Amino acid sequence: MVKRRVVIIGGGAAGIDVLELLLRGQEGAEETEITLIKKETEGFFSSCGLPFALEGIYGIKDLVLFEPNFYIDKGVDFRTGTEVTSIDLENSYVRVDTGEEISYDYLVIATGSKPFIPLIEGTNLDGVFTLWGREDGERLKAAMDAKDTSNAVIIGGGIIGLQAAVAFSKNSIKTTVVEMFSYLLPAILDDDMASIVQKRLRKDVTFILGKPVVSAIKGEPRADSVIVGGEEISVDLVLLSAGMRPNVAISKKAGIEVGVSGGIVVDQSLRVKKGNSYLNNVYALGDCIEVTDAVTNRPRLSQLASTALIQARVVSNNLLGISSSYKPCLSPTVAVISGLQVGSVGVISETARRYRIKIKAGTAIKYTKARFFPGRKRIIAKLIFEEDTEKLIGAQLISGETVAERINELTLAIKAGITATDICMRERCFEPSLTMVEDVIVDAALKALKQG
Ligand SMILES: Cc1cc2nc3c(=O)[nH]c(=O)nc-3n(C[C@H](O)[C@H](O)[C@H](O)COP(=O)(O)OP(=O)(O)OC[C@H]3O[C@@H](n4cnc5c(N)ncnc54)[C@H](O)[C@@H]3O)c2cc1C
Repeated sequence: MVKRRVVIIGGGAAGIDVLELLLRGQEGAEETEITLIKKETEGFFSSCGLPFALEGIYGIKDLVLFEPNFYIDKGVDFRTGTEVTSIDLENSYVRVDTGEEISYDYLVIATGSKPFIPLIEGTNLDGVFTLWGREDGERLKAAMDAKDTSNAVIIGGGIIGLQAAVAFSKNSIKTTVVEMFSYLLPAILDDDMASIVQKRLRKDVTFILGKPVVSAIKGEPRADSVIVGGEEISVDLVLLSAGMRPNVAISKKAGIEVGVSGGIVVDQSLRVKKGNSYLNNVYALGDCIEVTDAVTNRPRLSQLASTALIQARVVSNNLLGISSSYKPCLSPTVAVISGLQVGSVGVISETARRYRIKIKAGTAIKYTKARFFPGRKRIIAKLIFEEDTEKLIGAQLISGETVAERINELTLAIKAGITATDICMRERCFEPSLTMVEDVIVDAALKALKQG
């Protein structure tokens, strides 16, 4: 019997998730031969764990979760250290850097993203780093640990930039974060919520927010200063952490459509588009694709390992003959920054403003356990509702605990179309060592309702 051949380009979270789901789901399904092609040498490396490895909580090598043999032993043609240089959609094959052509019946594009490099002088100097994957992590950690590293500038005040800033300052490196926006974490928080994070970090980290922006990195051959708004800051290390851009070069070259966000255009089955039609045998997922926002209905990116996993379910189901579609997404996000758990889901106020969605918002500050219970943590919640319908469309939370589970709960609430009144009137459990009798979420909803 001739086996059908699935080729996966990319061995990050998205490619590996598809591979594992296919291996798990294959029993009883049409026999499949799987080839996975990736540039790196390890089997699977968890980039998500890098910020804490920089802090020294574990080693970078601990993030190699599987070696290639793990997959090879399962019968996968697992090709590491290999780059796909082109895709031939007409004749259904990919060409790799050795010149070999590998044919497919089904192609899965999971080429991920790469750090955005700002268009300024000096980004290629020694001492300038990005944080993606094992090599980046090892180079950066070695630079952090070098005796002569005492000053750092981080360009970008998003999650990765701030987590790195915490790691640097724990390593006694004097750190300045430069952010183009006037407040930190502008992709996931409103300015009032972001100021809480900034306050937490201000004794360890210096911030330069809003304009002026970085205009150059100076030094030869090693970076020794950064020019910010005409001022020169001495550095031994610079981290570029200004967002990620989808890797779409080989897809674009093959004629696959790329959308306004820079990600590959896909349909609900996650099939790619060429010309006027979606291709039946080519899927894409992960950081390299464009998704639809569940609140605004606009195209955007959702570059999260958690997003990739859901998309991998859709792709693997479709490959296994189980019809499956990917829904518009809310991208729930959580991060720990200097012990603060910071979470966000749905739209922030700025996104609502940009798309002319009228909102009412409520912010409340309470505790995670009863007022009298030892060990309680402060919790700050901001809820955003659509003005007319009073439906929940966004949530932001900061606390020392319980943020991840609350963000998951609020994600379900947004999906279910829950209103501010529903939040106030629904039953909640209570036990003083675990909750307050009236939760912070309820107070935030009440405050929003009071807006009239
Ligand atoms: C420091 C850091 C921390 C993060 N923390 C979190 C977190 O806490 N939670 C969360 O949900 N997300 C987090 N993320 C985001 C998450 O890691 C990504 O969303 C996820 O890795 C995306 O997976 P991917 O497979 O789509 O892309 P990638 O991980 O970028 O993998 C892409 C793969 O494609 C391969 N590739 C690309 N082009 C080619 C080619 N031409 N030929 C062969 N191979 C190719 C690459 O070699 C790579 O193997 C973090 C990211 C970083 C960098």
